[in-house]
Amino acid sequence: MTKLDRLIISKLRQIWLWSSVRREALKLVYDKKRKQWKCNRCKKFTDGPKVDHINPVVPIERPKRLEIQGIIFNEVNWTEYIRALLFCKVEDLQILCPHCHRGKTNKENKERK
Ligand SMILES: [Zn+2]
Repeated sequence: MTKLDRLIISKLRQIWLWSSVRREALKLVYDKKRKQWKCNRCKKFTDGPKVDHINPVVPIERPKRLEIQGIIFNEVNWTEYIRALLFCKVEDLQILCPHCHRGKTNKENKERK
């Protein structure tokens, strides 16, 4: 992954933070009395909800190597990345507390290696 790829990803994540589907997912599990969100995994309430894509945005499987005229391209598939990140449905998302989100992310990163 190049420096430019990483920059594009950080910009896309900023767009994600303001997306309506993300806000909708947060609203669904917000408890107005507690002023907290309910974690979908441990069912505890949290002040710092993480909006999680149930199926990871970056696939667990390594990207396929693309070869065109003998040149190997190992690039980010932007169409797939943007579709998974921004064009998801509220059903594709879940709210996790920071602890559960860290656990899920670490597990996914281990599986990628
Ligand atoms: Zn949790």
